[in-house]
Amino acid sequence: MKHCSRRGFLSKGMMAVAGGAASHTMKTQAQSHAHVAPARPVFVSTWGFGKPANEASMRQYKKNGSLLDAVEAGIRLTEADKSNASVGAGGKPAANGKVQLDACIMFGPGSKAGSVGGIEDIAHPISVARAVMEKTPHVMLVGKGAKAFALDQGFASENLLTAQQRQEWRAWKRSRKKLEVGEKNHDTIALIGIAEDGTLAGGCSTSGLAYKMAGRVGDSPILGSGLYVDNEIGAAGATGVGENVMRFCGSFMVVEYMRQGLSPEEACAETLRRIARLDGRPVDELHINFIALNKKGQFGAAGTGKGFPYAVAYPEFSDVLQSKSLSQKSIGIEGGNAPIEEQQ
Ligand code: ASP
Repeated sequence: MKHCSRRGFLSKGMMAVAGGAASHTMKTQAQSHAHVAPARPVFVSTWGFGKPANEASMRQYKKNGSLLDAVEAGIRLTEADKSNASVGAGGKPAANGKVQLDACIMFGPGSKAGSVGGIEDIAHPISVARAVMEKTPHVMLVGKGAKAFALDQGFASENLLTAQQRQEWRAWKRSRKKLEVGEKNHDTIALIGIAEDGTLAGGCSTSGLAYKMAGRVGDSPILGSGLYVDNEIGAAGATGVGENVMRFCGSFMVVEYMRQGLSPEEACAETLRRIARLDGRPVDELHINFIALNKKGQFGAAGTGKGFPYAVAYPEFSDVLQSKSLSQKSIGIEGGNAPIEEQQ
């Protein structure tokens, strides 16, 4: 079911509509009906900061119609924002004070992919991931090798630790406090999109968990975990505690549920249910969230606990929506590896 009228679709510019009353109406409709974008391209991304990223993707797409350029441009915008403490420059460092970034990119046709893990001193890991995909016979480069490759490709080496983050890291070191997992110390931009011709692509970029062990790599650069794109079915991306996504190939699982016929939102929710069952801890303790988009332009998201904000843009529309939420109460299970039949 389409949630945006033809009149709304034809009205003024996307940015103008996004701020106004029409946006509110569409937002309400988007939340209460099957989430279907009435026009392509569609961009879906994690968190409120996904909105300007989607809009950058849309601007880039309008320039040359390249979905891959669009995905990269959206993620680069988030990476460049030094006030964002969980992606790119300005991200929180590992325990040793070095900012170590993870990113991957995937292009539907041919299932092409590139990825970098734990890369230091390079401000745009998404672009390095794309270079890995396009210029090497490999899929993933990590650490020193990833940086050496980036430098060889002409990327500049720069200090990514801002004064603010250095100060906070020093205070953390002094306090020796174990950091609680929460929204303040980790996030990721996962951005997935579909072009007018149905081509799918996506990317993912993060500085990972704040003060993680040096060398720790999360779900974000791992294909099938932080991101997965299947050009026949759809795309999915993740944000949250990577350890609770990568043990389950979370984004791949979302896409597989869409293959079985679930809507993007239900595919995300079913993935969370299954992960919670297998993990055994209460779902509220997992801190994981998924976004999804299928080949028909339907989109959706689900997160543990209270859920999370995610951003959607398509022609004449750009806004932040609230995901479906899955708490222990709504799942109705105590946790503990019960077989699937018992949970239904
Ligand atoms: N998934 C990221 C990681 O574990 C962090 C996040 O998205 O919150 O590195």
